[in-house]
Amino acid sequence: MSGHTASVISPCGINCTTCYAFQRSKNRCSGCRNQSGYKPNYCVVCKIVNCERLAMTLSGFCHECDQFPCARLKQLDKRYRNKY
Ligand code: SF4
Ligand code: SF4
Repeated sequence: MSGHTASVISPCGINCTTCYAFQRSKNRCSGCRNQSGYKPNYCVVCKIVNCERLAMTLSGFCHECDQFPCARLKQLDKRYRNKY
């Protein structure tokens, strides 16, 4: 996987390019993994991207974590199922 591809895949595995905030032209989000540039506040405080265990993985993806799928991810999965 190239660096560029990896950068639009969030740690939890969603593709930022499918995100509404990433696609819009006004206040466009710079992506889950991007530290600089605009990001909605609810994503700045994301518990997954900021997870201390994620920092311990080599790949930077949750699937490598020994807690996977943790309560945070299950909660997120539930939200996606209900909303989309
Ligand atoms: S940081 Fe949030 S708004 Fe931006 S691409 Fe990721 S999920 Fe979407
Ligand atoms: S505990 Fe593991 S699976 Fe859960 S958010 Fe952190 S890195 Fe991802």
